Amino acid sequence: NLSGKTALVTGSTSGIGLGIARRFAAEGANVVLNGFGDAGAIDTLQADLAKEFGVQVVYHNADMSKPAEIEAMIKFADDKLGGVDILVNNAGIQFVANIEDFPIEKWDAIIAINLSSAFHTSRLALPGMRKKNWGRIINLASTHGLVASAGKAAYVAAKHGLLGLTKVGALETATTGITVNAICPGFVLTPLVQKQVDDRAAKDGISNDEAKKALLSDKQPSGEFVTPEELGALAVFLASDAARQVRGAAWNMDGGWVAQ
Ligand code: NAD
Repeated sequence: NLSGKTALVTGSTSGIGLGIARRFAAEGANVVLNGFGDAGAIDTLQADLAKEFGVQVVYHNADMSKPAEIEAMIKFADDKLGGVDILVNNAGIQFVANIEDFPIEKWDAIIAINLSSAFHTSRLALPGMRKKNWGRIINLASTHGLVASAGKAAYVAAKHGLLGLTKVGALETATTGITVNAICPGFVLTPLVQKQVDDRAAKDGISNDEAKKALLSDKQPSGEFVTPEELGALAVFLASDAARQVRGAAWNMDGGWVAQ
């Protein structure tokens, strides 16, 4: 039970981040939501989560590519909910092109959002965690933090970097009540992956269902998507006291992807 704790989940208006935020709310944690989307839909999401689980839910619209906005978000969490106890660095984007065709601004955006934002949130949240001698940092990396795929230079570089940051964070907090770990999901059917399904369907002239199967059969031996709920359960475990000696791990939940 995480009641009395505050979980900040970046990029939690959609997909995996939303699944993780829901699971933390279900455990009784207060939640800071973040991410883009329709203002009315986000209001509703915030109110529904608070009502369903009887916790406080606040929202901050910081753009994870902007350090000043990240700083404002952490201050907001301090002011509204007494600081960040559980930090989930989840916001992320994807872009697919070969290196020689990769747009420079896409490279910069992916490195900023998928990697540098986790450095900024961590450096700003750690002092509060150290004061309480308790904290959890959970970085959403990817199987692409462990292995590569063609066409994903920026994403793979950022996710490998995020695992490096995770290990350093784990060592710097090793003798404290703070742990730093990463989760490495395989394919999860979120808007980020639906775009790749659509591209595959268009490229090969196949249906949506066939494109999903094709994407999975390339990489994911289970032939099934991982779900945001399953990832939420893993994040809750990493936040639990039972996981206090899990430090610097890159925990894959990937239908067997990296076992190959
Ligand atoms: P998604 O597109 O469904 O959600 C991404 C979230 O991040 C949204 O809430 C979006 O608003 C937010 N976001 C995007 N840019 C932002 C910015 N600049 N500032 C603040 N918020 C921003 O994607 P998802 O699949 O749920 O991905 C979440 C994380 O999981 C990402 O880090 C992704 O790399 C990782 N991941 C996804 C998969 C997958 O198969 N879907 C697999 C492995 C890892």
